[in-house]
Amino acid sequence: MENQEQQTIPRVLIFPLAAQGHVNSMLKLAELLALAGLHVTFLNTDHIHNRLIRHTDIQTRFSKYPGFLFRTISDGLEEDHPRTGDRFMEVVYSLNDKTKPILREMLVSGKLGSADTPLVTYIISDGIFGGFTIDVAEELGIPIIHFRTVAACCFLSYFFFPDLIESGELPIRGKEDMDRLIKSVPGMEGFLRCRDLPGFCRVSDATDPCFRMIPQVTNQSRRARALILNTFEGLEGPIVSRITKFCPKIYTLGPLHAHLNARLANNTNGSTSQSSNCLYDVDRSCLTWLDSQPLKSVIYVSFGSITVFTKHDLMEIWYGLVNSKQRFLWVIRPDLVEGEGGDDMVPVELVEATRERGYMAGYVPQEEVLAHRAVGGFLTHSGWNSTLESIVAGVPMICWPYFADQNINSRFVSEVWKFGLDMKDVCDRKVVEKMVNDLMVERREDFEKSTAEMAKLAKNSVSEGGSSYSNLERLIEDIRFTAK
Ligand code: UDP
Repeated sequence: MENQEQQTIPRVLIFPLAAQGHVNSMLKLAELLALAGLHVTFLNTDHIHNRLIRHTDIQTRFSKYPGFLFRTISDGLEEDHPRTGDRFMEVVYSLNDKTKPILREMLVSGKLGSADTPLVTYIISDGIFGGFTIDVAEELGIPIIHFRTVAACCFLSYFFFPDLIESGELPIRGKEDMDRLIKSVPGMEGFLRCRDLPGFCRVSDATDPCFRMIPQVTNQSRRARALILNTFEGLEGPIVSRITKFCPKIYTLGPLHAHLNARLANNTNGSTSQSSNCLYDVDRSCLTWLDSQPLKSVIYVSFGSITVFTKHDLMEIWYGLVNSKQRFLWVIRPDLVEGEGGDDMVPVELVEATRERGYMAGYVPQEEVLAHRAVGGFLTHSGWNSTLESIVAGVPMICWPYFADQNINSRFVSEVWKFGLDMKDVCDRKVVEKMVNDLMVERREDFEKSTAEMAKLAKNSVSEGGSSYSNLERLIEDIRFTAK
């Protein structure tokens, strides 16, 4: 009898791209579904899974959810293959090229299920995988939906890459052309410049493989049964409405980290323990340092998990921070700077000023850092998770986008939502110094006001009756219904 009941519990396969931001948000969704009593299989690449095991307690943490499984698949690359900076897209190409037969075999053979719930009844696939997960799901008759981890504004723009070519707006004609306004992305006509288009558009001709891949992959989401976006009505409602022209059924569930925290708090009468999904060892000593800093006096500096720096840019940021005279907490990942070395002499004035009012950490618990009372600003690469985490914490931003969706996110942060400043395409110590002082002092009140208002909307959206909350209920119902 008990076994019969188990078999009617749906098993959802969640398959993210092998990158910190994708894994973070899709693991939050996985936990939300597990909290609702669904059985979940989380499929990571071996490379990512090994790093998660090394740096976190995820296996113990998720063992409390009945039927929760971690499974792994190869990304097709050698273990020591570089996976950051401009080599990151090779991971995407490799997974898209090689994974389809392996995924099919894992589904057919029951490797993605447990003894109680052996069959996958629903798939939530990272939309960046395009058609191959949909092909497999269709062949095996399993309902599948796509999860896009980028902002709605970015995802909408992807649908219009072909129009940009047809209208002659792309390719971009050199540096002097970067400030030209773009007309072919609806709703963004007045403010989106060439430089704000997703980084994939910065190519000299339209046959570039990466540029061509984006609309192909994006169009595949139209074949999925529905689309999940990590955003919320109050932030991107009108843009989400425009996407329904291509993908009529959309669940906005974000901000997922806040959504999970809210549901965990409900389940435990208010107490939540911050949990890490980090791919690096987390240095918590920065929180002790923050404890001793004045209210909103620190600018937190972090460029996510993929950005790499030239030594020149690193020095410009460093000088800018030091010359601003503001306090700063800076994440220096072990693989942050490109090229060999580390033996260069750092000027003594930088070392002394950093000792006086700065703190450098290898990798930090970012959600906790942003929520700390001492943090008053965020110098960020504008990755979508970081942007949402900053919004929820009510922390204004300086954006220094590195690639991909970050270019358009930073334009929306500065021009549309007014949460801060955009430092795109510039890395100059004087500009850094000025922007840090504008954010932390001169224009602080304005930015804080708009960010605080949006933080409130974000929290409402994940509270009972809010849009993201209700959408999650709908998704869970749909998953249960299809398993019957
Ligand atoms: N992150 C973290 N500690 C750090 C740096 C980053 O926990 O020191 C997390 C951050 O909270 C976010 C994710 O890593 O959830 C980065 O995702 P994002 O989309 O912002 O950027 P990506 O790394 O994908 O470029």
